[in-house]
Amino acid sequence: MQFDESHELYRQSCLRFAREKIAPLAAEWEEAETFPRELYREAAEAGILGVTFPSEYGGGGGDLLHSMITVEALLTGGSSGVVASLGSLGIALPPVLLLGSEQQKQRFLPPVLAGEKIAALAISEPGTGSDVAGIRTRAERDGEQYLLSGSKLYITSGVRADFVTVLARTGPDKHGGLTFFIVERGMPGYSVSRALKKTGWWASDTAELAFDSVRVPVENRLGEEGSGFVALMKNFQGERLGLATYGHATAEIVLADALAYAKERQAFGRPLAGFQVTRHKLALMATKVAVAKSFNYALAERVMKGEYLVAEVSMAKNFSSQIAQEVCFEAVQILGGMGYMRETRVERLSRDARILPIGGGTTEIMNEIIAKSLGL
Ligand SMILES: Cc1cc2nc3c(=O)[nH]c(=O)nc-3n(C[C@H](O)[C@H](O)[C@H](O)COP(=O)(O)OP(=O)(O)OC[C@H]3O[C@@H](n4cnc5c(N)ncnc54)[C@H](O)[C@@H]3O)c2cc1C
Repeated sequence: MQFDESHELYRQSCLRFAREKIAPLAAEWEEAETFPRELYREAAEAGILGVTFPSEYGGGGGDLLHSMITVEALLTGGSSGVVASLGSLGIALPPVLLLGSEQQKQRFLPPVLAGEKIAALAISEPGTGSDVAGIRTRAERDGEQYLLSGSKLYITSGVRADFVTVLARTGPDKHGGLTFFIVERGMPGYSVSRALKKTGWWASDTAELAFDSVRVPVENRLGEEGSGFVALMKNFQGERLGLATYGHATAEIVLADALAYAKERQAFGRPLAGFQVTRHKLALMATKVAVAKSFNYALAERVMKGEYLVAEVSMAKNFSSQIAQEVCFEAVQILGGMGYMRETRVERLSRDARILPIGGGTTEIMNEIIAKSLGL
């Protein structure tokens, strides 16, 4: 994969941000299960927040590699929760970009890309996650408004979001009856039911949202009625490649920590790295990281050339999610008791990694997509 100078400069700037703005407070924010809103503005000022969005809306005009670099570099700060929260705009805004009118883009994109507002994407519901077409949140037209009712579950940044990009049912057709709407904080009937407690991603808020006959103006509908499902499938490509990047990046970071520990830590009169079993563990971990990373980069290159790679992106998400579990497990093992302590990055990232085979489409759903591509 060819990184040009802009990518390398950008990587340095993201690493600096992670080192100076995230790492020193990551443990505190994780325990507090939140972080200051100000970080969004700081990330925007550093050119990180909207790096891949068009410059006319306040983005950085970057490419897919920039977004992969963002994940890789920011995760070194040691809090996937912070990265997930800062990144919720990366799944909430593409439907606006893809389906929205010029007026909607001008209205909704710049404040989020400037770090002034927080955006979330709401697809999953209490009754349905993997089966997206089973969505029951309804939006019924009533003059120049829609009456939107239902609930959404597991929504990243949902507690703090200033607006939510909501997929709702506008017609009976399973796939063709889904439409995106922007529901804004303060609209009567829209509320956060609860903030959810999680295994990992502690610094990231995850919400259950309630919509009780919310009057959503027609100006907040994105695209034509029925355009939601196709837009969502396109959105999944970016999200899944992003999660694949989380996978290889998490594995790479815990590998580096385990390597450093194995060189330092003494047992039976020698460093852990002096035991062949540890060396071979590290060799296998490094191999897994290298394979996952190069597959993800190779896919990114093809996606950037305009290819639509549903099956391959599903493979990447599954493979990277899986190797992240394996590499994290061994990293904790190499750190021994210290690997179980909250004060280590290995402990935290290992917990955080458990979301990877679940979020953005589960391993089983990815395998269904891959199987279909095999003609099964
Ligand atoms: C921390 C976190 C953050 C999230 N953020 C967001 C967000 O911002 N926005 C959003 O909309 N959603 C979000 N989600 C939801 C996430 O996308 C869903 O959890 C995921 O898609 C799985 O849906 P589900 O939990 O309803 O599981 P289910 O669909 O109920 O699946 C349960 C199990 O059954 C399996 N299964 C289901 N169908 C099949 C099948 N056909 N064949 C084989 N196995 C099957 C699944 O693979 C899984 O193992 C988040 C989830 C978490 C945990």
